[in-house]
Amino acid sequence: MLSFENVTKQYTDGTPAVKDLNLNIEKGEFVCFIGPSGCGKTTTMKMVNRLIDITGGNIYVDGKDIKEQNAVELRRSIGYVIQQIGLLPHMTIKDNIVLVGTLLKWSKEQKNARARELLKLVDMPEDYLNKYPHELSGGQQQRIGVLRALAANPPLILMDEPFGALDPITRDSLQEEFKKLQKELHKTIVFVTHDMDEALKLGDRIVIMKDGEVVQADTPEEILRNP
Ligand code: ADP
Ligand code: ADP
Repeated sequence: MLSFENVTKQYTDGTPAVKDLNLNIEKGEFVCFIGPSGCGKTTTMKMVNRLIDITGGNIYVDGKDIKEQNAVELRRSIGYVIQQIGLLPHMTIKDNIVLVGTLLKWSKEQKNARARELLKLVDMPEDYLNKYPHELSGGQQQRIGVLRALAANPPLILMDEPFGALDPITRDSLQEEFKKLQKELHKTIVFVTHDMDEALKLGDRIVIMKDGEVVQADTPEEILRNP
């Protein structure tokens, strides 16, 4: 579903952020990227959805070289959730969830139906659809950010420290909800964290990065056996 082939990234100021990354992520897999701040995790995510250019090597999404795809269409096929989800403050929760529907020219009825369907996934009452972001708690806003990334039903979802700013209880409940979503919706998920407990809990496989390189890529069981 997602392959990295000798991928490198050097920023224009000379910083070598990612060095010779090789990795295959299977369809339906939940892969956690972990490593200290500055090791290249965010850079890797941004290359996949072409927010930044690759310096060397190739990335394939669903077998297709991303360089040969239209960047806007590529991003539409990849859900992206970051810590600062940035819901639009003057739009209702419903309009925030189905933001992509405007681009895809969905009818009002299609948008309403999709927003209702998505909200059911995260255990929030339907009257939240007509509220505005400031009326929701941080954890609720983060749930909406996740739903927004799911709206166009992308097969691949990138999550960059999505729960990092949340209190431990909200975080636990979102982790559980999210693991459930992965299983039920059969998504391929790449999840960046710097918290090993979170990676062990969520990942089918854990990719450990250090100084721009992958130092280990194994199942949680193997990681615990050979740390
Ligand atoms: P993270 O939460 O992944 O550790 P950072 O704090 O490293 O994020 O980076 C936050 C933002 O600042 C990112 O968009 C990143 O691209 C940018 N950034 C990080 N380091 C630099 C740098 N040395 N020069 C310019 N921009 C940077
Ligand atoms: P992580 O997500 O693991 O914290 P990043 O991918 O944000 O790491 O950063 C990897 C390296 O690239 C760091 O040394 C960071 O300072 C640098 N970096 C990130 N963004 C930029 C940028 N826009 N310009 C220059 N250097 C950057």
